[in-house]
Amino acid sequence: MKKGFVYLVGAGPGEPGLITLRGAELLKTADCVIYDRLANPDLLRFARTDAETIPVPKRDGTGLFTQQQINKLLIEKASSRQTIVRLKGGDPCIFGRCTEEITALAEAGIGFEIVPGITAGIAAAAYTGIILTDRKYSSQVIFVTGHEAEAKPKSNIDWQLLAKFSGTIVFYMAMANLDFIAEQLIKNGMSAQTPAAAIANVSLPSQSTVRASLRKLGQKCKESKIEPPAIVVIGSAAASETPLNWFAQRPLSGSNIVVTGHRRGNAEFAAKIVRRAGIPLQLTTIKIKPLTQTNQFLQTLARITAYDWVIFTSANGAIIFFDCLQGLGKDTRVFGSAKIAAIGSGTAAKLGEFGIKPDFVPTVFTSSQLGKQLISFANLQGRKVLLLRSRLASSELEKVLAQAGAQIDNVPIYSITPEKLQSSQLIKEITEGRIDWLTFASPSSARIFFEQFQIDLVNSGNVKVASIGPVTSEQLKNLGVRVHVQADEHTVDGLLNAMEKSEKLKRKLKKQ
Ligand code: SAH
Repeated sequence: MKKGFVYLVGAGPGEPGLITLRGAELLKTADCVIYDRLANPDLLRFARTDAETIPVPKRDGTGLFTQQQINKLLIEKASSRQTIVRLKGGDPCIFGRCTEEITALAEAGIGFEIVPGITAGIAAAAYTGIILTDRKYSSQVIFVTGHEAEAKPKSNIDWQLLAKFSGTIVFYMAMANLDFIAEQLIKNGMSAQTPAAAIANVSLPSQSTVRASLRKLGQKCKESKIEPPAIVVIGSAAASETPLNWFAQRPLSGSNIVVTGHRRGNAEFAAKIVRRAGIPLQLTTIKIKPLTQTNQFLQTLARITAYDWVIFTSANGAIIFFDCLQGLGKDTRVFGSAKIAAIGSGTAAKLGEFGIKPDFVPTVFTSSQLGKQLISFANLQGRKVLLLRSRLASSELEKVLAQAGAQIDNVPIYSITPEKLQSSQLIKEITEGRIDWLTFASPSSARIFFEQFQIDLVNSGNVKVASIGPVTSEQLKNLGVRVHVQADEHTVDGLLNAMEKSEKLKRKLKKQ
């Protein structure tokens, strides 16, 4: 029987974007993904929805796997003509037990390929500005495992050599033995004042760095509660200037940000937060139900070419409309010569994904501005206008368009229903001051959130409230909630920009 094939793929240090193109392509085709604890599970979104995904954590967690069990699993899965991606943290060949896995595969006659990844030590340099080979300090780098650094006879670590080494030493798996490592280096002649740093969760929003002299690093890590996985860098490079630490200086770095809304939108928002080094917490407040099976909608769709303008006021509306078209085996030609308007850049971008470039987008992304600007852009007297919106949408847009003489059909394309929130954990986190931002991207989400949470919770604590635009802010204010920032551009990116601006200002005030 023909056997399968195993790709040992480096997942990179944590940030999903740091996987190689080859690695991501292979993930897309794999029948089965067997992944380590240190490989970010977010990478599984590249995998086929029908792919089997098997976590094989080696240390903590419940299902603990020994190396032998992992080897056996690889062989078992690859014996049935499957394409397997064995996803490993960082680079598969750096302290990754790669040899054991490929030897077992070779012995079983199973083909394999190794796809390198960015190892944590290299990423730690880029993400802290601690440049391992800065020519001012260091012409050489050594990678060492700290796991062996115990007083055991079989350790291969040459402490004498390391203590004399004039370059940069990068320790992996060193956190449990930091004091012992420092002691050995100092005992063998390295200065106790040698600069050192520990960097935990490299490239992730939770990344944190502690710098100290070699002697004090262990103590300082304990005080700062730095926990594995962490990289330890020893040598002059570790004393690099903090302004080089671009990642930690990003305004939202390490901020805990609650995202409210519907599941799909929250996931997109959360990914953007992670890209800006924040830590998202997704809370599904609303469920969106397509109304594209209603007679009203289907009849409207059948005569959509009769309209002069079709207006989308949310990205959700666009997604639902095109999902429906696809289901009916139709495409953008259904619009005929009707012109299309979008409320803002987010909706326009979503329409763009389906091949539509809207004929009109206002400069300010609210429904009242959409109405006001559209009537001065186009003569709507006697024109037929179709609004495809949420069932809950306000009547303001309709009024403005009707005053300009338009004949309007308002056809709801989706409805919004509240989700029951799991509130106790969030209340605890807010009360204990662990949440920095609470964000609202729609008035309905704000209303539903505060139907289930006490207003005092946010008005009296440290948590700040960010709103996407005037309509959402209005809803929040009517509920009695203090809004700290409102996005200038009423999109998720605009919301993040407003929060960043506020954090930058806070830092500036702190410095003065
Ligand atoms: N193959 C991996 C290393 C596996 S050994 C690589 O190339 O990166 C596990 C050790 O890697 C951890 O104990 C820690 O020292 C380091 N490590 C892995 N991911 C890390 C991360 N995101 N931040 C800091 N250290 C990390």
